[in-house]
Amino acid sequence: MAAWGAGLAENGGMDTSRTPAGLVGRGALLRRFDELLAPERFKDYGPNGLQVEGRDGIRHLVSGVTASRALIEAAVAAGADALFVHHGLFWRGHDGRVTGWLKQRLALLLAHDISLFAYHLPLDAHPTLGNNAQLGARLGLVADAWFGEQALGCVGAADFADAEALARHVERTVERPVLLVDPGRGPIRRVAWCTGGAQGYFEAAIAAGADAFITGEISEPQAHYARELGVAFIACGHHASERYGAPAVAAHVAQELGLRHSFIDIDNPA
Ligand SMILES: [Zn+2]
Repeated sequence: MAAWGAGLAENGGMDTSRTPAGLVGRGALLRRFDELLAPERFKDYGPNGLQVEGRDGIRHLVSGVTASRALIEAAVAAGADALFVHHGLFWRGHDGRVTGWLKQRLALLLAHDISLFAYHLPLDAHPTLGNNAQLGARLGLVADAWFGEQALGCVGAADFADAEALARHVERTVERPVLLVDPGRGPIRRVAWCTGGAQGYFEAAIAAGADAFITGEISEPQAHYARELGVAFIACGHHASERYGAPAVAAHVAQELGLRHSFIDIDNPA
């Protein structure tokens, strides 16, 4: 576990709660997340919103990327009342049995009465606080067009001498080595990006006019597409590319509602 960025972000401020003892109600917190992220606009791979119901009164909100056991344990140790994550516990295709890792994670949340809020695609897509916008901002990229399924992919102007220069810039930004497939085609004037496991968006990024595409992961076919179609592919890590949206949204909402907020980064090399 490591605190990310400027360390644990804390928010004081006024208490807008009608729940007793200076706490914010779980329902009020859910409404604020839903208003901000509008999950009804997305067709997603799992339920967005409140995935696990904990205590009603919330004072300390912890955010993180994935509701892993390590994050839940860290949240318990931090005295969290609620967790806000990008990758929740329930996904399409899971057979619904509460066994193994799922049992362990759920048991911890329930034993400590901690609510789990999870927002997947709505958190990628939020125009200023989302994963794509936050990664773009750190890279100095501003989207002027969107592409791919549910228009999640972003593309914008850039000015790099070549793909290698862009890759080094991404490495410095996300603070880890990246995988570059460089077709060696010279200057990069348009960059497309989509956080997480968006390697399947590569062809849509090419169709959108990109000279390079940045996402978290790469699969075997994309290396060939990059070489054959002359568009650079940069995989900078699924986790690394999605570390920015959850704390941005949680800090924003915590500030509004007068909650304490901490972001806990559980490192993941993938
Ligand atoms: Zn993801």
